[in-house]
Amino acid sequence: MKRSSMRVQSLPPYLFSIFHERRKALEAKGIDVIDLGIGAPDLPPPDFIVDRLVSELRQPEQHRYSPYTGCDEFREAVASYYKRTYDVTLDPKREVLTLIGSKEGIASMMTAWLDPGDVTLIPNPGYPVYRSAVHLAGGEVVDLPLLAPAHASPNYEAIREKDFENAKMMVLNYPGNPTGATIDIEVFLEAVTLCKQHDVILAHDAAYGSLTYDGYQAPSILQVDGAKEIAVEFGSLSKTFNMAGWRIGYVVGNEEVIKAIATVKSNIDTSQFLPIQFAAAEALRSDFSAVREQCEIYKERRDYAVEQLRRIHIDAPCPKGTFFIWAPVPDGATSREFSERLLEAGVVVTPGEAFGTEGRGYFRISLSTSIDRLTEAFSRMEKVVKEMER
Ligand SMILES: *Cc1c(COP(=O)(O)O)cnc(C)c1O
Repeated sequence: MKRSSMRVQSLPPYLFSIFHERRKALEAKGIDVIDLGIGAPDLPPPDFIVDRLVSELRQPEQHRYSPYTGCDEFREAVASYYKRTYDVTLDPKREVLTLIGSKEGIASMMTAWLDPGDVTLIPNPGYPVYRSAVHLAGGEVVDLPLLAPAHASPNYEAIREKDFENAKMMVLNYPGNPTGATIDIEVFLEAVTLCKQHDVILAHDAAYGSLTYDGYQAPSILQVDGAKEIAVEFGSLSKTFNMAGWRIGYVVGNEEVIKAIATVKSNIDTSQFLPIQFAAAEALRSDFSAVREQCEIYKERRDYAVEQLRRIHIDAPCPKGTFFIWAPVPDGATSREFSERLLEAGVVVTPGEAFGTEGRGYFRISLSTSIDRLTEAFSRMEKVVKEMER
């Protein structure tokens, strides 16, 4: 048989799946494994969202194809959410597009905007999908390093002028995965200014925009004056409303980019199932009290985890967003070695290098696990750290 495409064959190895195999092997031996590696919520979606889905499911006419760009009700709910939350005005027909999750939308955007060899600047450390989506679209990745140790602001000085000149697109993500890093609007203002100067499209991934703590509110990139001329922003209901498996998100902002994404999508999919779009509209129109309650749960876990890490001499910053903790590995080990030792002890964490070279020396903990399980995980981690200190 002839082989799969070069694009598929040359994809970087997915570190997550390597760890997944190891974990399965340990579990097969009867070892209890605590997974702090998952990037998805453990809590259920609020009832009012499920109720709307169920009632729509009973309507025979809702089983037809959705319009290609998504149904009006969902796109209008996104626009009204932006008005209410960020005071940003969007035309639901031309500046909002339904996605089958933001991951799909990011991949479709790369196909829509990149020609072979076109450069995209992506955050390092960052969500691995950016890199593989650029690769699958035939584009070329140039790393945009985030400044250590917090890995919050981009270090534009590390980008060669030539790469900025050749760049067609730049990706940012705040609050950030894997770091939990948050920023204020000045960082967006600088990014918009730079991208305008270099004629670069700016894509902001706001998957964790509503999961924030301690009174911090994440800005939207579209709050920067004139951002719409070059920027799009991706949103998702996966983390905000615990709807990861539903596959629903959106992209808003620049009309030309959205039109190009819609063209790619109309040739590949036919948007999301209508009842899911209606239920998601219900979620976005809500008062977000369910989201705030859920953030209280994450906050409690966050505070507990940061305290436990400090107890074992791992000094991790306390993130104001996402459900991740980004921590330095103890001295003398690489992130990969440390993660492997933890795995042997029955705890899965994600080694920082899974998110790019700048992630070396760090590991990511996900807070989508109960305090009970976290307690057990940190007691196992303490043993590993003590052994290493010997
Ligand atoms: C989880 C995640 C996504 C994907 O969200 P979906 O809408 O479920 O596809 C996108 N970006 C980041 C940074 C994420 O962590």
